[in-house]
Amino acid sequence: MRGSLGGPRVLLRRLREVMAQRVSAQERLDKIVVLIAANMVAEVCSVYVLRVDSTLELYATEGLNRAAVHQTVMRAGEGLVGLVAQEAKPLNLSDAQSHPAFAFKPETGEEIYHSFLGVPILRAGNTLGVLVVQNRAHRIYSEEEIEALQTTAMVLAEMIASGELSALARPGAEPAARRPLHLTGLGISDGVGLGHVVLHEPRVVVTNFIAEDVAREVARLDRAVDALRASIDSMLEGGEIDPAGEHRDVLETYRMFAHDRGWMRRLREAVLTGLTAEAAVERVQSDTRARMMRQADPFIRERLHDLDDLAHRLMRELMGRTHAPKTERLPKDAIIVARNMSPAALLDYDRTRVRGLLLEEGGPMSHVAIVARAIGVPTVGQIANAAGLVDQGDAIIIDGASGEVHIRPQADVQAAYAEKARLRARKQKQFAALRDKPCVTRDGEHVALNINAGLLVDLPHIAETGAAGIGLFRTEMQFMVAASFPRSGEQERLYSAVLDAAGDRPVTFRTLDIGGDKVLPYMRSFEEENPALGWRAIRLGLDRPGLLRSQVRAMLKAAAGRNLRLMFPMVADVAEFERARSIVERELTHLRRHGYLLPEQLQVGVMVEVPSLLFELDELFARTDFVSVGTNDLVQFLYAADRGNTRVSDRFDPLSVPVLRALKRIIDIGQAHGKPVTLCGEMASQPLGAVALVALGFRSLSVSVAAVGPVKAVLRQLDARRAAQRILPWLEGRCSDTRLRERLHAFAESEALPL
Ligand code: PEP
Ligand code: MG
Repeated sequence: MRGSLGGPRVLLRRLREVMAQRVSAQERLDKIVVLIAANMVAEVCSVYVLRVDSTLELYATEGLNRAAVHQTVMRAGEGLVGLVAQEAKPLNLSDAQSHPAFAFKPETGEEIYHSFLGVPILRAGNTLGVLVVQNRAHRIYSEEEIEALQTTAMVLAEMIASGELSALARPGAEPAARRPLHLTGLGISDGVGLGHVVLHEPRVVVTNFIAEDVAREVARLDRAVDALRASIDSMLEGGEIDPAGEHRDVLETYRMFAHDRGWMRRLREAVLTGLTAEAAVERVQSDTRARMMRQADPFIRERLHDLDDLAHRLMRELMGRTHAPKTERLPKDAIIVARNMSPAALLDYDRTRVRGLLLEEGGPMSHVAIVARAIGVPTVGQIANAAGLVDQGDAIIIDGASGEVHIRPQADVQAAYAEKARLRARKQKQFAALRDKPCVTRDGEHVALNINAGLLVDLPHIAETGAAGIGLFRTEMQFMVAASFPRSGEQERLYSAVLDAAGDRPVTFRTLDIGGDKVLPYMRSFEEENPALGWRAIRLGLDRPGLLRSQVRAMLKAAAGRNLRLMFPMVADVAEFERARSIVERELTHLRRHGYLLPEQLQVGVMVEVPSLLFELDELFARTDFVSVGTNDLVQFLYAADRGNTRVSDRFDPLSVPVLRALKRIIDIGQAHGKPVTLCGEMASQPLGAVALVALGFRSLSVSVAAVGPVKAVLRQLDARRAAQRILPWLEGRCSDTRLRERLHAFAESEALPL
């Protein structure tokens, strides 16, 4: 075939025949190597398969000693074959034995062959094995031959991935393609999920690799690329995209790649070797992934996502727009796997069938994380290449507490987690039994246990948990999951539904906390160096009072004839609070003048989450009706450690002397003013955190829905006075040891608290 393009096509056609034959896996492999060797005029063709123990086993050969099949095994990185697997790129040598990586395997009899061409067998960028051809003569294989061998490797990749070869393997030495994987990411939403993979953006499954008519495939590819380019152009020029936004940058990058000559050339070459246009897209993307995944540079990895998306779009052009996999029925135990996802996309899934969520990205405070917690979907984030490691329908287990993920778990792991899930269910039952019991400490202190909420889907939780009320209603959630700005009427309807659902129980609405990193896709955004310290929340509200006014008006109307509690986020000084409060007064006056029924009672409060307020507490309490402490932000600002940046977000422990001292100051001054103080940060949702807070004097907490049971169970066993006696001295400088968490743990243990 040297130099001729007819060669690979003929080979692919023959391979298709072999793939369709009803023969054993070994026979099929044996036929394949014979075909490849003959077609490439090579004296040797061998297939090495990557095993679960990371070694490469010779599975079939034409030309080498047959007795070496299933006997010769190379360690990872050993020999030329190991090198090809490790680097996931072709190796083309005219004198293999003089290469420093050459490893002599006497049983194969390969010493008489000088030239060597090895290509990785890749699937979704993962190496599954190595395909090699060898010749006696010293020669360098042509570009076309390398291309042809890579194309052939793709057919083998599908064969390996199908699991067909597992029957040939000894236990413990199975092909790695379907091996169980144990990975650890970041626990984002508590709970154990056992189920089967549903890819959020399913790889289009290419069933037909081998072209019947190459000219037709070239034409299909060209048409699809044209359509892709046109669709990107129309998105960019359609006027719906913010001219300065991030979305536009992404599309501009797509446009650049879609016109990239190298990409186009590789796609065309792959089609010319005899692949269908779809198979060519998959092959080129798989090679690209394999190369880019080996780069440490985060910028390059980010570009990989762009290229993945682009390949995905091109595939959709090829398969036709009717290809809409998400409408397929979900399995009853779906674990959704995605690179990242919007909250709205998560809510689109049938919740009764979703058992978990696995994200390649996804910080603990990302929007999708907040929604996942709100709807109680166990979630793990930060698993690199997660979508590339699984196949649709694979068995999978995720543990949202520890961040552990088991892909294709073995029976014992599966059994252990099933037991864990059963235990959890039993615990949930115990918590449910506490639902109607009061949250009172052993020494009679009542603690109001509220829940944090933000969406309609949260409302049934009030009754389910028996919570005292909603301590924090994050109104921005409605905005984050909407496709466009919710109108005042829609806001009013939501607030009214919340108040209806809560009945007599109090609800504290927080005005919009958007801006900074909480960007709304439909709102013009500004590039900011430090978004957390930027133009967000009340700052934006005061600068764009129209928005705040319409929201406040919607709240006042929704609460007509009932009680309304509203508070402002990110207030940094008393003057800001006064300005925000005056907006409420103005709206009240407006509604009164127009004859609207007003709330029966109105309380206006402040979130304490910017440290400057700690030094203006007296003035603040003199003016506010109540305070709610937002420790998520307060702690990030106290420690100057970005809560959304996983490199630093866990660096400092909120259960520390400085934080508890700050909280003590707030509760003490609040009590001196006779004003209610509550705390709605995540800290209250941790049973140990709740113990510390009650010791400090907090008698009202607002926690995530899943935390109501565990926190109530602990507080009902707590002696609040004894906790205060033990814990408060640790904050008074008499505690040289700053490892407060350990001390708190020891205290909880000595009191037999059910942590
Ligand atoms: C907080 O900052 O603690 C808080 C409750 O608000 P959010 O997490 O919405 O910023
Ligand atoms: Mg906050």
